[in-house]
Amino acid sequence: MISSRGYAAQNNAAPLAPFSFERRDPGPKDVVIDIQFCGVCHSDIHQVRNEWGGAVYPMVPGHEIVGRVTRVGSAVTKFREGDLAGVGCMVDSCRTCANCKKGEEQFCLVQTIFTYNSPEKTTGRNTYGGYSNNIVVDEDFGLKISPKLNPAAAAPLLCAGITTYSPMRHYKVAPGQKVGVVGLGGLGHMALKFARSFGAHVVQFTTSPGKKDDALRLGAHEVVISKDAAAMKAQAKSFDFILDTVSAPHDVAALLSLLKLDGHMAIVGVPPDPLSVPAFTLIMGRRSLAGSAIGGVRETQEMLDYCAEHGIASDIEIIPIKRIEEAFTRTVKADVKYRFVIDMSTL
Ligand code: NAP
Ligand code: ZN
Ligand code: ZN
Repeated sequence: MISSRGYAAQNNAAPLAPFSFERRDPGPKDVVIDIQFCGVCHSDIHQVRNEWGGAVYPMVPGHEIVGRVTRVGSAVTKFREGDLAGVGCMVDSCRTCANCKKGEEQFCLVQTIFTYNSPEKTTGRNTYGGYSNNIVVDEDFGLKISPKLNPAAAAPLLCAGITTYSPMRHYKVAPGQKVGVVGLGGLGHMALKFARSFGAHVVQFTTSPGKKDDALRLGAHEVVISKDAAAMKAQAKSFDFILDTVSAPHDVAALLSLLKLDGHMAIVGVPPDPLSVPAFTLIMGRRSLAGSAIGGVRETQEMLDYCAEHGIASDIEIIPIKRIEEAFTRTVKADVKYRFVIDMSTL
């Protein structure tokens, strides 16, 4: 066994606190990574607080992991000791179902094993995430991180990056299109960067007027305060694609009405309660409402390589782990610029 230290939630209300635990003995295809940085995703907060149900405690959150490979199993070919490596939201899947074969392991028909709060395939024990000093992962679910990327600013790419890159590629965001990004947080600021990089005309929707200048700096051509009814009306029926990253209840119908004929809106935010979608906002204009979850391993690597090549990374605020509760509180208040990343050397 590998001994590990991290921060865990013991229930849905207590603050995260130091926790010691063990990880599986690395097998021939496993790598051991010493974690340097881990991003703080709003999903960590939803799950620690059991807002989606299904939480198993103790829970060590964290799925935006970057670190150094310190050990490789005898059959490992993808990594060498000393390599910079990443782990995102998944650590395993069945690998043989139709979706896994397509490289969409996040939609495994048997079971995607998530980086935390999932039953580990070999041991059946609960997986523990990246708010910790090390992780054991099958090389097939490890990602290569280019030395061109700053490791701390690359960490959020492992979830916020791929979750926004994947639907924009799926819906073929391209020059000549008008694209909306809803919510300027961890996912939203990455969505802005990708949409701009893919050549679209990008409009940021935000509830926070104070983020306007940042949105423009991060790549928006226009910024709309979504609570301003007149400003929303001025954008009616004009978008090819909208990506909704909002983590809390909000007016989805108002956003759908901004799509033009045959436009698509993809939801990636996961507010705990069901959304309300009036049928008329879909049928008028033959609009489509879709969803998307992270991305497969192959596409995650493609996204990381794209970021290295185009100089894209997350705008981060590095925190010591003892400030994690403050980071959670500020994230929930939409006061994150634009991703907290834990410096794991402070553990
Ligand atoms: P985040 O950093 O907290 O950003 C969410 C943003 O949504 C906020 O900054 C805020 O932006 C906006 N917002 C918050 N409350 C709102 C409200 N009541 N009405 C309208 N806008 C509001 O969160 P994140 O880490 O980007 O994650 C966003 C959501 O995506 C979470 O629900 C998370 O669980 C989910 N997620 C999904 C996937 C997936 O695979 N589908 C992956 C990762 C995360 P403004 O201040 O600009 O309004
Ligand atoms: Zn996440
Ligand atoms: Zn599968």
